[in-house]
Amino acid sequence: MVRVTECPVCQGNSFSDFIKCEDYTVSHETFQLIKCRQCSLVITSPRPDGEKLEKYYVSDDYISHSNKSSGVVDYAYKASRVFTLRWKYNLIQKFGDVKKPGLRILDFGCGTGFFLRECEKNKMLVAGVEPSDKAREMAQQQTSGSIVPNLESVSGLFEIITLWHVLEHVEQLNDTITKLKQHLTETGTMFIAVPNLESPDAKKYQQYWAGYDVPRHLWHFSKRSMERLFNRHNLRLLKIIPLKLDAYYVSMLSEKYKGANKLTTITNAIKEGWKSNQGARYNTQYSSLIYIARK
Ligand SMILES: [Zn+2]
Repeated sequence: MVRVTECPVCQGNSFSDFIKCEDYTVSHETFQLIKCRQCSLVITSPRPDGEKLEKYYVSDDYISHSNKSSGVVDYAYKASRVFTLRWKYNLIQKFGDVKKPGLRILDFGCGTGFFLRECEKNKMLVAGVEPSDKAREMAQQQTSGSIVPNLESVSGLFEIITLWHVLEHVEQLNDTITKLKQHLTETGTMFIAVPNLESPDAKKYQQYWAGYDVPRHLWHFSKRSMERLFNRHNLRLLKIIPLKLDAYYVSMLSEKYKGANKLTTITNAIKEGWKSNQGARYNTQYSSLIYIARK
């Protein structure tokens, strides 16, 4: 286990205890989260690293990497995926100026490649990075682009770089952003979606909140810490957009972790997801946020 002693966002070294959470999907171990007193970044620390961290990804429940469906939560996830893929594509089209064909996209942490497939259908040239062997093979079958295991194996420049719920997983936070920026064209656009720990559903579910997903989520962001991270890397934040469906999905998982039965999981998730989106309307603290940035 490794203890984080310096905040990667502001380089501060003073932390307070934030919350303790269980790993509900793989190990059922408990992890401490700490909060940087200076920039408000929340960090899973101590944490497993390297190969030890990889072991926490080995689970049939880890559905972003698998396509076999069982249970109500997985079903809801897959049903919403079709809608979400299209919505994400429209978003990058709107902000990324991708109307002409042949523009290049790099999806960092592309999972099984569904998003890249959607982009390829729309005449984009696609590439992906995915560390999981199994997911990477599937992504490779879904697209004709190059899917590689790490950022060091990526070559060339991209007009669009996307990270859909990936940044919270990367061990080398600054190094990753520096390298991604090097692969972005001068007028290119980055889309970074992360859970928002200041959302109403995070506050409602506390240690059960699925957005913490320890120890796989190493960093837990707020608008403040993300803005500071962009500043550090000289990236210009254009806009922050909510992923409203995530409030329902995260509430459903959180209900499951709290031990609710199947029926109450669904009814409470709909109620809490709706409440979260309503509550976030005035301060835009939605369950998940997409940060759109340029050089
Ligand atoms: Zn900090």
